[in-house]
Amino acid sequence: MTDPGPLVLVVEDEPQMRRFLRASLASHGFQPIEVSTARDALARLTGQAPEMVLLDLGLPDGDGIELTREIRGWSRVPIIVISARGRETDKVEALDAGADDYLTKPFGVAELLARMRVALRHAREAGGAPAPVISVGPLRLDLGRRVVTVDEREVRLTPIEYRLLALLAQNAGKVLTQRQILGEVWGRGHTGDAHYLRVYMAQLRRKLEPDPARPRLLVTEPGVGYRLRDRD
Ligand code: CA
Repeated sequence: MTDPGPLVLVVEDEPQMRRFLRASLASHGFQPIEVSTARDALARLTGQAPEMVLLDLGLPDGDGIELTREIRGWSRVPIIVISARGRETDKVEALDAGADDYLTKPFGVAELLARMRVALRHAREAGGAPAPVISVGPLRLDLGRRVVTVDEREVRLTPIEYRLLALLAQNAGKVLTQRQILGEVWGRGHTGDAHYLRVYMAQLRRKLEPDPARPRLLVTEPGVGYRLRDRD
């Protein structure tokens, strides 16, 4: 018998979108479970323990952001929000509620699969030992030795710069909101101090990017936060 692939819970009430997701997942080695309400989503999550959730925000019996908060109360299952709401505030709200990523409709299969790969990899690694060395393009970060190199040239970072880079590297490929980064690097009391982040991000770019004005490693997600390019 062939492996049916990872179970993916699809929470979506639009039939057309469900068809698209069902076909895309099934043809790429995933096993979709489909529900159209928040209530059924919770029942399937506890009953079947899927490896990932694709979640629409506008559901007939509730809001996907509320559902994300509820799930995060007891589960670390990766959640990718798929929504027609493209506003930055919606993205920030979903990510701060605990979603791993956010895709604005319409999107293509390749983009969906790329985001799913990143989220699944992070979830699997979170259960085991962290990657001791993370490589992203010319950047190499040795977490064990706390050594950062670009094109094999060592780069000296301040403690805050290092923590900021290590956080982004451990989440490579995934967007982190300003609030999440500030909370992790500076502490819970500083989640509103966006200017700290701007200053340190500019410093990191000057040290790591060949052309700091056109960053290719440390990418800004306008109005949302930052993403380190995905690992190689
Ligand atoms: Ca909907």
